Amino acid sequence: MIPAARNDFPEIRDAVRALVREFGDSYFREVDDQRAYPEAFVEALTKAGWMAALIPESYGGAGLGLTEASIIMEEINRAGGNSGACHGQMYNMNTLLRHGSDEQKQRFLPEIASGALRLQSMAVTEPTTGTNTTELKTRAERRGDKYVVNGQKVWISRIQHSDLMILLARTTPLEEVKKKADGLSIFLVDLQAAIGKGMEVRPIRNMVNHETNEVFFDDLELPAESLIGEEGKGFRYLLDGLNAERALIAAECIGDGYWFVERAVQYGSERIVFDRPIAKNQGVQFPIAQAYMEVRAADLMRYEACRLFDAHQPCGAEANMAKHLAAESSWKAANACLQTHGGFGFAADYDVERKFRETRLYQVAPISSNLILSFVGEHVLGMPRSF
Ligand SMILES: Cc1cc2nc3c(=O)[nH]c(=O)nc-3n(C[C@H](O)[C@H](O)[C@H](O)COP(=O)(O)OP(=O)(O)OC[C@H]3O[C@@H](n4cnc5c(N)ncnc54)[C@H](O)[C@@H]3O)c2cc1C
Repeated sequence: MIPAARNDFPEIRDAVRALVREFGDSYFREVDDQRAYPEAFVEALTKAGWMAALIPESYGGAGLGLTEASIIMEEINRAGGNSGACHGQMYNMNTLLRHGSDEQKQRFLPEIASGALRLQSMAVTEPTTGTNTTELKTRAERRGDKYVVNGQKVWISRIQHSDLMILLARTTPLEEVKKKADGLSIFLVDLQAAIGKGMEVRPIRNMVNHETNEVFFDDLELPAESLIGEEGKGFRYLLDGLNAERALIAAECIGDGYWFVERAVQYGSERIVFDRPIAKNQGVQFPIAQAYMEVRAADLMRYEACRLFDAHQPCGAEANMAKHLAAESSWKAANACLQTHGGFGFAADYDVERKFRETRLYQVAPISSNLILSFVGEHVLGMPRSF
């Protein structure tokens, strides 16, 4: 195996890697080919307790830190799997854990920890407003002991493999709030009770094997107790949870990055053309070495983001930078790996083209590269806001 920035927590790394390898490349290839959900794999991860890493032990979880959780995600991707099928189950519960009432936490967290309830989905993005989240149009209006939801979401992942969904909707019209970020609220939606009764879900076929959907709300009634925390503070709650999400996605990209480098090194050293291994040529070797250095640098930023998060210190800058650097470097490694494989890089049997598509997503979702650059420009470096 190629060296990584650190090979700490070997017991977590070995166990996760062994679980992923039990399924093997052919399993992930087949699931991708059939556009199916990796049900058996996600079930095995859940049963082994990995998805409940961040849930405190008092609610039946493993009570691990973000560093350990990020290693779980890294190892899934590094061993050839794709955490994108299930990462929501690990971090979507954060909003509930941090801002839910004791009653909500007692009711839902133990079942989320055991996997009996899947909280895989979070509905934020909308077709007309995109990244401009505070202008989203979905409304939740309080009527007696209910909220009535109307509006539309897009790209909402894993709904068909989830029991619960976090929903961000506007509860006070934009014209009536002082700050755009005010007046948004978070709800925990019981999907079985909602789908077909005011909520409609339409799958979107996309470049990766990622179950994602358009969602339409037409007078969906939610019990008032679905609200998480205080009405109107949902945007702040959402931001609170995003640092963990950014660091975990960074770790997935780092796992992908090491996977690409390892495959490129192996193939480049074995493939003989013009009577020599192709990796003997600097034109083949250097892009792999360059990508590897960038993955390792991103890996260190991931550790820094997780260290600060686990120490309850501000980590917004580090989490965003880690996600950005990791997504860029895994993409660079993906290109180097594909190029090294020549025509075989395009053959599904080599898995390179599948991982190539999977890792490309992370320059767009859950936040696009430009938005991170503007965050760093404005909030870290103090330059004028660009929009
Ligand atoms: C497979 C997949 C799964 C997803 N899953 C979820 C999910 O589960 N839940 C959810 O809520 N969302 C989800 N998303 C949505 C994702 O978070 C958004 O696609 C992403 O945040 C970008 O938003 P957008 O697509 O509306 O792009 P837009 O906001 O329309 O932006 C398009 C492009 O323009 C750039 N841009 C926009 N404004 C500026 C500016 N001012 N300066 C510079 N550049 C700018 C952006 O960086 C981007 O590259 C998913 C998306 C995909 C593709």
